[in-house]
Amino acid sequence: MSLEIYLNGDWVAKENAKVSIWDHGFLYGDGIFEGIRVYGGRIFKLDEHLERLYASAKGIDLAILLSKGKMKESVIETVRRNQLTEAYIRLIVSRGTGDLGIDPRKCRESTVVIMADKISVYPEETYRRGLKVMIASTRRNPPDSLNGRIKSLNYLNNILAKIEQIKQGLDEAIMLNHDGYLVEGTVENVFVVKGKKLLTPPCYLGALEGITRQTVIDLAPQLGLVAEEALLNSHDLYIADECFLTGTGAEIVPVIEVDGRGVGDGKPGKVTLAVLEAYRALTRQIGVPVYPKEQAKAV
Ligand code: PMP
Repeated sequence: MSLEIYLNGDWVAKENAKVSIWDHGFLYGDGIFEGIRVYGGRIFKLDEHLERLYASAKGIDLAILLSKGKMKESVIETVRRNQLTEAYIRLIVSRGTGDLGIDPRKCRESTVVIMADKISVYPEETYRRGLKVMIASTRRNPPDSLNGRIKSLNYLNNILAKIEQIKQGLDEAIMLNHDGYLVEGTVENVFVVKGKKLLTPPCYLGALEGITRQTVIDLAPQLGLVAEEALLNSHDLYIADECFLTGTGAEIVPVIEVDGRGVGDGKPGKVTLAVLEAYRALTRQIGVPVYPKEQAKAV
């Protein structure tokens, strides 16, 4: 069965899901997106992702013609039509078709695409082994240039850091802001563990307000941990007990080495693994059901 993709109000076969080369998402990265996961037939934190999508749209003055309610239904329907239970959803809203100038007024209607497909995740081995990362020399966009809280289609800043990391043969890169404070990974938020504290940079430094980041902050008390926002620099990373990255795709992934220096004892830490376990348990407990009737029958 070919995947069915939502494209501007219709579901079309993957082969026919085509967007114009005049679309400003393609020409200028003018648009926004979300990455969402489905666990056991339930969409995890769907409302939070939709809130962030509509906030990103406001941030770039982009009108989404679909109401939040209709968007939610369309996301659920896309997963249902593709009969997926473990999946990754990519929701994209671009400025739409215009001309070769950047003027967004030339784009009459935004383009909305919803894709849902099987997810390819890090192998379990990665969680047991942990990641080797570097601090990128490419600094994160300053929020007064392009605010990192906007999940925009323009990822070149992160991609430049990613290229540095690939050239060094490493697993990820962590980005600083112009004052040398830690901001985030190329596609994840970052946490430093110090004793019972989970420290993460405040998003006003230029980081995305990650849904996984917030979930970890919410889970901390039940694990006997205290989550706090803190201004951190590379030194804090080098002397951390543990470090981990958070993201919808990666979940909670341990970092064992930064710039060739072992973090803690150079192995995935106990706190990180406890957070990962609690996070995974939660993904199986909550979420918006895609197949409510079938699921009710199964219970
Ligand atoms: N920062 C960036 C730059 C990202 O692209 C992502 C992935 N969406 C994250 C952080 C993590 O966000 P979330 O937990 O919402 O996936």
